[in-house]
Amino acid sequence: MLLRNLHNVRDNELIDIKISGTEIEAILPAGMYMSRGEQLSVNFEDALVFPGLINSHDHIDFNLYPQLGRGDYSSYVEWGTDIHSRCKEAIDKVLNIPKELRIQWGVYKNLLNGITTVVNHGEMVETKNDLIDIYQQCNVLHSARFEKNWRYKLNRPFAKKQPFVLHIGEGRDVPSWEEINDVIKWNIFKRKIYAVHGIAMDTVQARSFDGLIWCPYSNYFLIGKTADIAKLKHSTNILFGTDSTISASWNLWEHIKMARKEKALSNVELFDSLTTAAAKAWNLPMAGLLEEKYNADIVIAKRKKNMRGFEAFYALSPEDILMVLHKGNIRLFDSSLLHQLTSAGINVSAFSKVVLNDSHKHVAGDLPALMKEITSYYHDVVFPVNIAV
Ligand SMILES: [Zn+2]
Repeated sequence: MLLRNLHNVRDNELIDIKISGTEIEAILPAGMYMSRGEQLSVNFEDALVFPGLINSHDHIDFNLYPQLGRGDYSSYVEWGTDIHSRCKEAIDKVLNIPKELRIQWGVYKNLLNGITTVVNHGEMVETKNDLIDIYQQCNVLHSARFEKNWRYKLNRPFAKKQPFVLHIGEGRDVPSWEEINDVIKWNIFKRKIYAVHGIAMDTVQARSFDGLIWCPYSNYFLIGKTADIAKLKHSTNILFGTDSTISASWNLWEHIKMARKEKALSNVELFDSLTTAAAKAWNLPMAGLLEEKYNADIVIAKRKKNMRGFEAFYALSPEDILMVLHKGNIRLFDSSLLHQLTSAGINVSAFSKVVLNDSHKHVAGDLPALMKEITSYYHDVVFPVNIAV
């Protein structure tokens, strides 16, 4: 497959990308490759291209919740206690939906945002899914105050040689800061730990972690404060996470815009937190970059007028996404490409159509059927997309 005439976010170059199987075979200046007519070629106009994004924190089966809580909590402990007493009905409605359906929706939530790898926090999920990668090769602990026997689990002799991931310092009170010290003190064997949130984390503490997964949207919604990334980035690696819709918007691009307003990371650093830095942290050597031999995990989006490079990237919304490829396969495309893909012989019957604001997206699999099935369990569930009529 040949994808033609794309503006590379990183350097503004106009390129063509040739894909072979699951990999990027070649990246060439636009128009250089002489197609011999043997392959599918898709032409774009005014389109940006970037690697499939890596969401380093989500609870894949928690994405049918509305945002729960009144906000302005001192910590996640206060939030957890409050929603379990006041929002029981809302929680039960979602838990009434079979987990497999909730997981499948979580996959689509990520795909609609241009995410091709999501790091799941929670129990290992086993699901029939080939739309995106669900990364689970880590030792998941909930948090110091909600995970029973976390000290033992962190230090158990036969813990898999995989990084540990836990929510930590999710609050603006002293106990949230102290729990970070507690985890550092009890990390006897110096396990690799990726901390999620770290709102209360200071720069000295940050040095004890392999990375901090920043989820600014969730932090502002729950605590009204986020981590001091401008300082912490000098002490640890910063990755980006959305968290689930129980504490954040489904829309990654709102999170990214919020992060950018913090002015804590440069344009490149924020982009890297969703691509190369995350690929390095999760040991995905062939992800996060548009380069020859890398995975053909690729997102193409409509460029807003007169915008270039990172300025154009940070102005995007999910409706601007024209195509998502995962391991060389088209998983989502915009209806503006339907004619081109049909003429090229792509089997569009394997896709279903949904409406996202004013745009129509075709996604692999039967999303409308999934939405109807979920609705049969939870009648007033609200999706960010509608079924096309
Ligand atoms: Zn979380």
